[in-house]
Amino acid sequence: MSFVEVAIKVPLHRTFDYRLPEQLDGLSSQLHVGSRVLVPFGNQRKVAVVLALKDTTEVPLNKIKSIFEVIDDAPILTTSHLDLLRFTARYYCYPLGETIHIALPSALRQGHCPDKTSISMVALTEKGAKLPSLKAKSQLNLLKQLAQSGKSSLTELKALGFNKKTIDSLISKELINQSIEHDNLWQQQAPTVGTKPTLNKEQAVACTAINQSTGFNSFLLEGVTGSGKTEVYLQCLEEVLKRAEQALVLVPEIGLTPQTVNRFRRRFPDTPIMLWHSALTDNERLQTWRFCEKASCAIVIGTRSSIFLPFLKLGMIIVDEEHDSSFKQQDTLRYHARDLAAYRAFQHKIPLILGSATPALETLHKAINNKYQLLSLTQRAQTSTDNKFQLLDMKGQPDQAGIAHASLATIRQHLKRNKQVMVFLNRRGFSPTLICHECGWLSECTRCSTSATFHKAIGQMICHHCGEQHPVPHQCPDCGSTQIFPNGKGTEQIEEFLTGEFPDTPISRIDRDSTRRKGSLEKALDEINLGGSRILVGTQMLAKGHHFPDVSLVLILDVDSGLYSCDFRATEHLAQLVTQVAGRAGRSGEPGQVLLQTHFPEHPLLQDLVNNGYQDFARFAIQEREDALLPPITNMAIVRAEGHSIKQVVDFLTDLVPVHGLTGIQLLGPIPAPLERVAGKYRFQLHIQAHDRPLLHQYLAQMVDYLSTSKLAQKVRWSLDVDPIDMI
Ligand code: ADP
Ligand code: ZN
Ligand code: ZN
Repeated sequence: MSFVEVAIKVPLHRTFDYRLPEQLDGLSSQLHVGSRVLVPFGNQRKVAVVLALKDTTEVPLNKIKSIFEVIDDAPILTTSHLDLLRFTARYYCYPLGETIHIALPSALRQGHCPDKTSISMVALTEKGAKLPSLKAKSQLNLLKQLAQSGKSSLTELKALGFNKKTIDSLISKELINQSIEHDNLWQQQAPTVGTKPTLNKEQAVACTAINQSTGFNSFLLEGVTGSGKTEVYLQCLEEVLKRAEQALVLVPEIGLTPQTVNRFRRRFPDTPIMLWHSALTDNERLQTWRFCEKASCAIVIGTRSSIFLPFLKLGMIIVDEEHDSSFKQQDTLRYHARDLAAYRAFQHKIPLILGSATPALETLHKAINNKYQLLSLTQRAQTSTDNKFQLLDMKGQPDQAGIAHASLATIRQHLKRNKQVMVFLNRRGFSPTLICHECGWLSECTRCSTSATFHKAIGQMICHHCGEQHPVPHQCPDCGSTQIFPNGKGTEQIEEFLTGEFPDTPISRIDRDSTRRKGSLEKALDEINLGGSRILVGTQMLAKGHHFPDVSLVLILDVDSGLYSCDFRATEHLAQLVTQVAGRAGRSGEPGQVLLQTHFPEHPLLQDLVNNGYQDFARFAIQEREDALLPPITNMAIVRAEGHSIKQVVDFLTDLVPVHGLTGIQLLGPIPAPLERVAGKYRFQLHIQAHDRPLLHQYLAQMVDYLSTSKLAQKVRWSLDVDPIDMI
C-alpha cells in the first residue's frame, strides 16, 4: 500500500490523498488507520488523521505529495470512533477534518505525543538507583524521594514541591524515567456498592426493563424532579459495572454539581469515576481521554463534549435532563449530544437512558411512536404530595416592580413560616431598556437591533447580544431631557425592590452577573442551604439541578413572554421552565406553592400545564406541531447568513432557493433573523424542512457541495444548523 487518505482540519468537505515516502514504504505495516501523520499542505505542515491505506489514488502521480512523518505508533482513534466522527460530520454537514479536531482533546490536536509529560509515573532508572552525587540539591532530593517511595505519579511529586524542571533534567540525565500506567483492577472484581434504598414499584419496573434489555434500546425515563430517576441510573450502572463495562453519564453544564458527583462516588466508592467539563485543563482532558480508551476509568460524568470520549468497552449511556438545551452546541459543529448518544448506543449495541421531568417533544414523539420505550415514574420518591399551581391574573392588578400586591402578601406568609421563597425572572440587569419621558427615546445597542440593558449597580448600559458597553447617560441623547427612566424589569431591580420591602430577610440573587466571580455561586448556594427564611431571586440558573429543601413558594414573573414568540419552541421551553422551576418547591415533605403571574390566565397552554401537568401539555403540543407541520413531525435545518451588506446576505440565500421548487422539500426564506442585526451585521435565514430525513440530508449534502464553489458564499458568513433548537 503506497497511499494514505487523510482528514485535515480545513474548512473543506473533502479528504486528501498522500503518498508514503520511500523510507516509510516498508514500514507501512506500522502506519494505522486512526493514527496522526504530519503532511505538507500548501506551504504549511499540518497534522492529519489517517482514514484509509490504499493501493491507488485518483490524484495524478506527479501532483501527489508525500507525508512527512508518522506521529503515533498506535492509532489515537479506533475504527468505530472514526465511524462515529464520520457519521457526525455527515449528519451535521460539517467538514470531517474539523469534526475530528473538535472531538479530540487539545493535547492531541497538535502534532506530538504529549502523554509523557502529563499522565505518567516516574521511577528511578538503574543508573539513578545508585544515587550518584549531584550538584543540584533539588535533583538529589528527588532521587532520594523516589528511592524511598518507589514509583510515584507526577502529580504527587509536584505536590511534594518538585518542579517540572527538576524532573526534566533528571530524565535527560537518564537517572529517572517516565511511564504511563493504567490500572484496570475495577474490571476484575465486583464493584463495592454503598447503601441504597429499596426501589419503589415503578423504579423497579424501569430498572428491570433496562437491565434485561439486550442490544441497542432507548428508554425515556419520564419522572418529575425527586421521583427517583437518579436512583434508577445508579442501580442500572451497578449492573453495567458488574459486567466490567464502562458508562457515560451526560449532564447539562449546570447539573455537574458536587452533590451529583458525590452521590455517584458514595454509591461506588472503589470505582474510578472521572469528570469532564469545560473547566478542565488540557492535561486533565488528555488524562480522562486516555483513561477511557484504556478502560482505566469506569464511569465518566460529563457535559456535552464527553460524547466524543473513546471508551474501550462502553456498556451504557445515560443522558440526564435530556431536554436541556446545553446538549446542543450552538456554533461550529452544531451537534446535539443526546442525538449522538443515540447513534453511539446503536453503534455499540447498548442501552440508552434519557431522563427528564420535561422531555423534549422530539424525544416524547419517539416514545409515543414506540421507537423509545417509555418508563414513567409518577410519584416523588420521598413526598407523595404535588405542588399547588395557581395562575394570578395580572389584568387590573396593582403591582410594584412587576410583582402583584397579592403575590407580595403570599411571599410574606411563607417568610413568616420561616420558609424560603424563589422569585424567578429570566432577565438579568436592572431593566431591559431606559426610556425618555419627554421624547420616547429608548436605549438601543448601536450595533444590534435590540435594546441595551441598564445595569444599575455598575452604572453601565450593556448589550446582552454583542457585549457593547457604555456608561449610563445622564440625559436623553435625542432631546437632552434628564427625564430618563428604567423601562421593564430585570433581576437586579427585583432584588432592589424586595430588599426595601423585606428589610429583615436575606436575599440571594443568582444570575450570570451575580455569579461571575469564581466561587460566588457556591457561596450563595451554601448560604441558601443553611436554611431559614430567605428570598431567592434569579434567572434560569436557579431552575436547574439545585436542591433547595426550604423553598415552599415559587413565583414566576414573566410567563407571558413565552406565550407569544416567533420561535415555535417558545411554548415548549416555557412549559419546561415552569415545570423545572416549580420542581424546586415542596421538596421537604409538604406541597409547594407555585404562582404564575400572567395577563392571559385563560390561555389554553397555561390552563393545560397548570391543571394537567407537563405530560399532558406535551402531548397536546405535539398534536399542535403535527397540525402545523413542524418538528418533530418534520425535519428541519436552517442556513444562517450574516454580513455587513443586506444585499449580499439576501442574495446568498436567494441563490440557494431553486426556481422550480423541489418535491418533498419545503423552503422558507430568506427571512430576517429574529434579531436582524447583531454587532453591526445583518442576519437572515433560510429554513429547510422535509418529512423524509434521508431526502433532507441528500438535499443538504448537495447544497454544501454547491456552496463550496459559490462566489456569493465567500462574501458572507454562513452556517448550517441541522435540527436547530432555536431560531435565533
Ligand atoms: P430525581 O433524579 O428524579 O430527581 P432522585 O433519584 O434524586 O430523583 O431521588 C430523590 C430523592 O429520593 C433522593 O434523595 C433519593 O435518595 C431518594 N430516593 C430515590 N429513590 C428512593 C427509594 N426507592 N426509596 C427511598 N428514597 C429514594
Ligand atoms: Zn428624549
Ligand atoms: Zn449589541
